[in-house]
Amino acid sequence: MKLNLSRRKFIISATSVAPSVFAHAQPMGGGLLSFFANEPQATKPLKSDWKNAGVIDLSNSPYAKLKTVPVRAVTIEDGFWSQRRKTNLSASIPSMHDELLEHGRMDNFLRLEGKSSEPQKGPVYSDSDIYKWAEAVGFQLQVADNPELRKTTDAMIHDVVAIQEPSGYLNTYYNGDRKSLRMQYDTQTTGHELYCIGHMLQGAIAYYRAMGDPTLLDAGIRFVDNFLIPNYGPGANQKAIVSGHPEIEMALIELSRATGDRKYVDLAGYILHGDERVSLKPQQIVYMYCGIPFTSRTKLEGHAVRAMYACCGATDYYLETGDQAYWKTLNVLWNDLTAHQLYVNGGVGARAAGEAFGDQYELPNAQAYGESCAAIGNMMWNWRMLAASGDAKFTDVIERALYNGINSGMSLDGKTYCYRNPLAFDPAGESRDRHLVDGKIRNAWYDTTCCPPNLERTFASLSGYFYSTNADGVYVHLYDNSEMDWHLHDGTRLKVQQKTNYPWSGDVKITVSPTTPKEFVMYVRIPAWSTKNSVTRADCVLHGTFGSVGSWRWDEPCGLYGAAGWGDYGAFRSWFVGWSDGADSSGDDQQVCYGYGAVLPCFDSEAPGESDCGEADSLLCLGESGVCFYAGLDSLQGRLEASADFHLFFWAW
Ligand SMILES: [Zn+2]
Repeated sequence: MKLNLSRRKFIISATSVAPSVFAHAQPMGGGLLSFFANEPQATKPLKSDWKNAGVIDLSNSPYAKLKTVPVRAVTIEDGFWSQRRKTNLSASIPSMHDELLEHGRMDNFLRLEGKSSEPQKGPVYSDSDIYKWAEAVGFQLQVADNPELRKTTDAMIHDVVAIQEPSGYLNTYYNGDRKSLRMQYDTQTTGHELYCIGHMLQGAIAYYRAMGDPTLLDAGIRFVDNFLIPNYGPGANQKAIVSGHPEIEMALIELSRATGDRKYVDLAGYILHGDERVSLKPQQIVYMYCGIPFTSRTKLEGHAVRAMYACCGATDYYLETGDQAYWKTLNVLWNDLTAHQLYVNGGVGARAAGEAFGDQYELPNAQAYGESCAAIGNMMWNWRMLAASGDAKFTDVIERALYNGINSGMSLDGKTYCYRNPLAFDPAGESRDRHLVDGKIRNAWYDTTCCPPNLERTFASLSGYFYSTNADGVYVHLYDNSEMDWHLHDGTRLKVQQKTNYPWSGDVKITVSPTTPKEFVMYVRIPAWSTKNSVTRADCVLHGTFGSVGSWRWDEPCGLYGAAGWGDYGAFRSWFVGWSDGADSSGDDQQVCYGYGAVLPCFDSEAPGESDCGEADSLLCLGESGVCFYAGLDSLQGRLEASADFHLFFWAW
């Protein structure tokens, strides 16, 4: 069977591949047997309300001040994000599927099944490419079923689980001559075995929450329960664990949320603490961002994606345990992030060498590393900090990263990707690096292809980031035409509809429709960049100093709760005007940057008429002659209208 298919054949493959997979798959317990009956049953008790989970499931997390809203509960309608999400489904996910197959990522599994003679291909972490792609599919299926995509992914999942060994071990790279290297300490620091399993668990959980199919999740649980925990951990009869590339920590905690089994939180805590039995060099501790107690960290350093993922896992650990030492450290690190290490586009990572954080304020524009995965890690971390605190300052970082440093990672047609996202780029200049192919900064494929499926899972899950709930009511985090159909904590059914041209306009009309009159609070985020705010509800206009960040609670007499009920006061408008301020993270002297609300404009440094900025992969520069600057709205609008050299926003270059 040849799985090297063109994109045109993608849909056809869904039906033609699946039967032969069945014929070759090996019995793997309840998951596979029940698959034939189309009603997969989990081998371990899983939460039965799998449809109600958000991007992460905080419904039973005791230290989550905000509870997530299911991805499927929010429909993003025509507006800023709709085209990106349509493209993600129609072009990105299918084309990345074909790229993964073309570059042997499934052959790696099929070879171990005896169904391919191709050699192992790709770096040590190649299995994770499949899992992250499957997670994107899982979130996509949470939004809407897609039988063809589901069949294709089911077939791939069965080829994955078919190679799981009786011990529970599952990894395509450490086989044959490399088998003896499994989980050796040197392998743990560089081999990404647990990183791959972490992505497997995340993909499996998203897929389970889409369809209730536990096939992949069962395999992940078997790895952890049968292989990892009996042999590795803090016990005298166990060998130590070093995560090497943090990822397994947040995956284990989400596994705990999916199963209700607390032991996975404890295991994550052990990994976050580090094991003194493993002797690591100082540079390893910096680079890997693991191996010593997380709570001993005082700054962000080392590999940016590793650090961001470690912070995600540590925040997840706090959300489950309330360990104040973690919360204190997390806030120290967040302050370091926003004061010293955050690019204006929400990207992180200043140095290509080690894909790493730099020193404080070391934020070069052309040399910015800004890996898409690091910006996504930044968003995921801030999503968790927001849940832990209810503080909108974390949402501001999410918005900045999402609209800019993440959104720039994928071309508008959804088929090429930017690994790093510099703030100035010259195809022939100093920003060339190993991730450019033939001078192009966007490419369809990278042998280290961590970023593309990471972008796909982020865009597929985006609707889950719009709202949260708490005992008081509903938090509105992101703005776009959309409708939430969910409920308050007391079960009151509630619809929240947004009509807006955000981010091009700050005018947002929000209509709130509970099924029965109900007192509750709507928390509306005032973006930090907004310097002029107005909120109107019926005949009631609220003005005030809301602060640059932070949630804002309406009070009587203009509060949304009260005897008047929702019939009269169900709609209100929010209006935000402003631009980025205080965000001068440019490391280049005498350069400042301005944004248009949530988005960063980019400018061509060439003379008007000589620009090739319109080509998606050609050029980015902020400001004339490499200079970008703060400006008031009047100045910005004037420039937008008058400047022939204004072309694109950062995400579209
Ligand atoms: Zn990446």
